[in-house]
Amino acid sequence: MARTVLVLNSGSSSVKFQLVEPDTGRAVANGIVERIGEESSSASLTYGEREVTRDDPVADHDAALRAAFDLFDAAGADLGTGLVAVGHRVVHGGPDLYRPTVIDDALVGKLEELATLAPLHNPPAVLGIRVARKALPDLPHVAVFDTAYFHDLPAAAATYAIDRDIAEQWHIRRYGFHGTSHRYVSEQAALFLDAPLSSLSQLVLHLGNGASASAILGGRPVDTSMGLTPMEGLVMGTRSGDIDPGVFAYLWRTAGMAVDEIETMLNKRAGVRGLGGEIDFRLLHQRIQSGDEQAQLAYDVYIHRLRKYIGAYLALLGSTDVVVFTAGVGENDAAVRRDALSGMGRLGIELDEHLNESPSHAARRISAETSPTTVLVIPTNEELAIARACLDVI
Ligand code: ADP
Repeated sequence: MARTVLVLNSGSSSVKFQLVEPDTGRAVANGIVERIGEESSSASLTYGEREVTRDDPVADHDAALRAAFDLFDAAGADLGTGLVAVGHRVVHGGPDLYRPTVIDDALVGKLEELATLAPLHNPPAVLGIRVARKALPDLPHVAVFDTAYFHDLPAAAATYAIDRDIAEQWHIRRYGFHGTSHRYVSEQAALFLDAPLSSLSQLVLHLGNGASASAILGGRPVDTSMGLTPMEGLVMGTRSGDIDPGVFAYLWRTAGMAVDEIETMLNKRAGVRGLGGEIDFRLLHQRIQSGDEQAQLAYDVYIHRLRKYIGAYLALLGSTDVVVFTAGVGENDAAVRRDALSGMGRLGIELDEHLNESPSHAARRISAETSPTTVLVIPTNEELAIARACLDVI
């Protein structure tokens, strides 16, 4: 019987879960409970060829986990046999937590304290941890932090140019997020190229609903686009990315918006959806094709910011051996990849149009034979990376 790890990613209104065989890399089952707390909740699980769904209301995270277990039963999936650990994705580890850590009551307490640093992301993860520890008390539960990979960023990249005492007192630094993904795809890129990770300079573009870029030299990140929170950097599905902090003060002082309102606007009503009305790039492209100028502007702003980061990281690295696209947009949207890299021949980056446009779910090269820089699409797999991190510590 193969060992399995249940990986949980608890958000405020959804819980994603996957049962993974860390040794083979196989995802045995994959599910999500969505719209927790709403009338229109839904839950689904894919197990082999089978897909089971429920759409009765799911009141809270307790009920969400029960719904998930029910789905395993309904699909005939044996969750218990072989299960060796539960891995929890935790967005923010703060200044001190970065290694994958077996969860005990003291750690839950520390994670609760971190809610101030990541008010939108950490509380639901803590809730998921509490509920899952109660439901599966005999198994080790492990927290894996999104910030971990960037813990040792060079000081020049990690430091905001603000008053040092304030920064120190309030733990303000650039933490970086999506670290599990950046680490995983950069390692997979080295495997794909059959080259030692230590020999490569890489520019990784994780473009999902959240989006971030990183510059990686010899397997160590030297910069990343997210900062104290996952709001900094690239334009995202619903987040603004980089914005003049003066906007915050201006809206607060002059428009009379409360701090929470401004934060919610920048997180939920900004980015591609804020500008173009859609979070999903497939729908955004449809709007553009039908002549929607706002959608076009949203796309142009997204691409403009992405190209700025690519340029900045090329300058930091000097040059790059590899550019890697990953996550929902990066893996699937050929137009975004084309527009992000067009006209960069003199910087050593040339796409092969045909390879770029051939859809695939596999890791693949999309650069021209003659391109000095190799451009890859590498599907991310944060669940597998979390499952493997669990095995390292239990
Ligand atoms: P999350 O940050 O929520 O994990 P994902 O990495 O799953 O996000 O990315 C989801 C996004 O990927 C969708 O909102 C959509 O914009 C984009 N996406 C998914 N499939 C496609 C596709 N075939 N073409 C273009 N974009 C896609």
